[in-house]
Amino acid sequence: MKKTMMHNRSRRCFLKTVAATGTAAVPLLALSSRDASAAKAEHLVVQYRDTPRNGHFCAQCKYFEVGESEDSNQCQIVQSPIASKGWCSVFHPRS
Ligand code: SF4
Repeated sequence: MKKTMMHNRSRRCFLKTVAATGTAAVPLLALSSRDASAAKAEHLVVQYRDTPRNGHFCAQCKYFEVGESEDSNQCQIVQSPIASKGWCSVFHPRS
């Protein structure tokens, strides 16, 4: 197995663990920016949905990056597309 494939598998397992345990995303911050942009979490892994949960939504999250339009919004952790009123299990309010 190539080193890159092993790296991607480890990352995927890690993201699944975060999603399953509801653990804060702090360990994700330890990843280099190269790693973070190389493989963002799939919607299913982080239980992403296009609607708020308990009054929380992406536009309030520290990982949300506002785009020029709703379609170009980005998340530092989760794959696009991301809705400003969406939510996922990695949600972390801006301080
Ligand atoms: S709630 Fe999830 S998808 Fe939305 S910005 Fe935060 S980390 Fe990204």
